[in-house]
Amino acid sequence: MTDTRALIVGGGPAGAAVAIDLARARVPHLLLERSRVTGDALCGGFLSWRTLETLARLGIDPDTLNPVRTTAVRIFAGDRIARADLPYPAVSVSRRHLDTVLLAAAAGQGAAIERGVTVREIEADRLRTADGALLTTPALFLANGKADVRGTARPESARGADPTLGIRVRVIPSPALAKALAGRIDLYLFDRGYAGLALQEDGSANLCMAVHRSRLQDAGSPADLLATLGREMPALGEWVARLAPGAAIDAIANVPYGWRQRTGQAGRYRLGDQAGVIPSLAGEGMGIALASGLAAARAYRADGAGNAAAWQQRLSASLARPIGVAGAVRRVAESTAAARLIPFAHPMLIRMLARATRIGG
Ligand SMILES: Cc1cc2nc3c(=O)[nH]c(=O)nc-3n(C[C@H](O)[C@H](O)[C@H](O)COP(=O)(O)OP(=O)(O)OC[C@H]3O[C@@H](n4cnc5c(N)ncnc54)[C@H](O)[C@@H]3O)c2cc1C
Repeated sequence: MTDTRALIVGGGPAGAAVAIDLARARVPHLLLERSRVTGDALCGGFLSWRTLETLARLGIDPDTLNPVRTTAVRIFAGDRIARADLPYPAVSVSRRHLDTVLLAAAAGQGAAIERGVTVREIEADRLRTADGALLTTPALFLANGKADVRGTARPESARGADPTLGIRVRVIPSPALAKALAGRIDLYLFDRGYAGLALQEDGSANLCMAVHRSRLQDAGSPADLLATLGREMPALGEWVARLAPGAAIDAIANVPYGWRQRTGQAGRYRLGDQAGVIPSLAGEGMGIALASGLAAARAYRADGAGNAAAWQQRLSASLARPIGVAGAVRRVAESTAAARLIPFAHPMLIRMLARATRIGG
């Protein structure tokens, strides 16, 4: 089937941003999303002040996500603790809520969205879906995030020798949790990984970590790893002890932190995690997804898809600093000896690093 519409693969933050902009401008498009119902993607859920600015440009009021602002961070390394104010207020939100709000905003603008459609293969300007349909497009927006599609997959080498996994568990709401985390996120640094704990809009706390596979293998299972970390860091152990018995632990494998798409191709825009994967310690992955989606849609409207290659290279250049700085901070955070020095860092330095890891900052 020949299609003259722009096709957007994926309805996460990057794809939704494209759909909102193209729908607002009445530019023909179709967004294909594999899930029929919005799930709760594994993510820390931290929206930086820069991400909130992009959301505002997309017409999303942060108060609809979570009216409470996060203004400070506490960093735990071994038995040491540092506290710093964030440069500007941020927001913590579950992905189920954020993705629902974004897709509803796109639909509200008249976006064409088809759910339950999985794109299986892409070759040049042709897409094949799981049910065998063939679509062609003059403008392809790849916003399929963590999942790769045959024909456009990121290289295996992007995973690194000791690949990283994401692990997430929810701490159920309680007055103690609300009091301990009011207006703040906690960051726990440990050998070969780190974890963030943040209160979300429903009063539960999202405990989300990135950990190298070798560390998980040493522990045995995700549940054993949580128990081990709880023993190593009593402040974290307090929350691990409060997990509901048999609480669901979600995991994703092979997160290619640090990878960046450096070259471009006419007719194709790679967005969000398909353009570059910033270490999640920075809390800017969703900001990159939203900003790249909005910028790509605007570039397509202004210059046409023939200029997509040059646009991709400009995006890659603008991601170099935030991804590079976040990678360096991550290396320090994951080394036990170096991480213990972080609590001695001046709050000014922590704020400076927080700024340097923002897109367009
Ligand atoms: C452990 C961890 C913690 C994180 N914490 C944070 C944080 O606190 N703050 C932050 O800003 N970022 C964080 N991130 C990063 C953030 O989750 C991603 O950068 C962000 O989700 C990227 O958005 P995206 O739209 O590119 O992709 P995704 O959010 O992955 O969305 C992709 C969409 O495409 C759909 N899809 C996939 N394949 C297909 C297909 N073949 N056909 C059709 N549809 C498809 C999926 O169903 C999904 O809806 C974290 C990441 C990890 C791993």
